[in-house]
Amino acid sequence: MAVDAQSDKSSAKVAIIGAGLTGLLVAHGLTKNGFKVSVFDSETSIDTRLRDWTILLHWAMPTFEKLLPEEVIKALPGAICNPHLTFNDEVECLPCYNGITGDILFKSPLPGSRRVSRQRLRRVLAQGLDIKWGKTLSNISFPFDDVDQSGNPARSPVQLTFADGQSELADYALGTDGASSKVRQLLLCDKDAEPQLSGFMFATGITEYRDASKVEAVVKAHPVAAITLGMEAVAGCGVLSVEDEQDMSTWTTFWTKIWRGSLADLPKIDNTVEYIKQTTEGLCEPFQSIINWTPPDSECYIDEMKYWIPVPYDNYAGRVTLAGDAAHPMLICRY
Ligand SMILES: Cc1cc2nc3c(=O)[nH]c(=O)nc-3n(C[C@H](O)[C@H](O)[C@H](O)COP(=O)(O)OP(=O)(O)OC[C@H]3O[C@@H](n4cnc5c(N)ncnc54)[C@H](O)[C@@H]3O)c2cc1C
Repeated sequence: MAVDAQSDKSSAKVAIIGAGLTGLLVAHGLTKNGFKVSVFDSETSIDTRLRDWTILLHWAMPTFEKLLPEEVIKALPGAICNPHLTFNDEVECLPCYNGITGDILFKSPLPGSRRVSRQRLRRVLAQGLDIKWGKTLSNISFPFDDVDQSGNPARSPVQLTFADGQSELADYALGTDGASSKVRQLLLCDKDAEPQLSGFMFATGITEYRDASKVEAVVKAHPVAAITLGMEAVAGCGVLSVEDEQDMSTWTTFWTKIWRGSLADLPKIDNTVEYIKQTTEGLCEPFQSIINWTPPDSECYIDEMKYWIPVPYDNYAGRVTLAGDAAHPMLICRY
């Protein structure tokens, strides 16, 4: 059965695989432009993955405004780590400290930027979309591809098959399923699709000190976030969320650490916080103390950063493509 691909976008159906920030943003943009969009994600609900981190929105802000409907734009401040700040040149910059002397090396100006919680931004972006949870993509096929009367290929819908055995048809499919994308594996038939290990480790800690003076040390480095270039590591710290603006002991902060190393060389770790404390020394203040003060039961993740250098792939006459980390997983810290 040959089915003409929809040229009339008002009825063209797009399936987006992956309800991360990329998939949700694209879903809004396409919906705004008249496409019928469904998003499929392997997680069972938006609450499945509770891991949070911060993201700096800078040059992306004008794009957000183009892609998002007004009600979602209005809700965006709810994702800002500390929405109570007076945003000026001092707040809209990223200071970098000399890891030995603690002097400021430079301040990178970030006019109009906002640091947001990835988790809260995802919740804001999920509003008003058709998201089907618990759907893990396992295959993409074109079972109805045929030729027309003149012998030319007739484009047909894309068939998406999920791990639960169900399938869906769509005119177009977009893989926004992250750094280890299944869509990328399928498009490249596994060949050349594997992300590369970088040789650089990245750790993040989410800290609830319940102590205003410790939070104050973070805020003094910078009210949003700051980094330091040490001899052995690059470290950062900042504010993740503010419960009571007047009481800093209620604020949640974060730290980051990047160092040369690999997952393969990592010993067996019982407690990631203790491991980072034991292996971090010599950072200038307040960065060293910010790590040392971390309560032992804090969330702390350690990963080796991965990247993938894009190679050409068959997009099946424009019917399937990739975006976000699926298309270009990069090392973080893109300051
Ligand atoms: C600690 C940290 C700090 C960062 N800081 C910044 C920053 O400051 N600035 C910046 O630009 N970036 C930053 N990044 C990177 C940024 O978070 C990612 O680039 C971005 O979130 C990727 O979004 P995505 O939607 O492309 O992929 P993801 O967020 O990975 O979403 C992929 C989605 O696809 C789903 N999925 C996966 N496989 C399947 C499947 N087979 N079927 C169905 N669904 C599937 C997953 O469940 C997930 O919901 C940071 C990352 C980390 C970890």
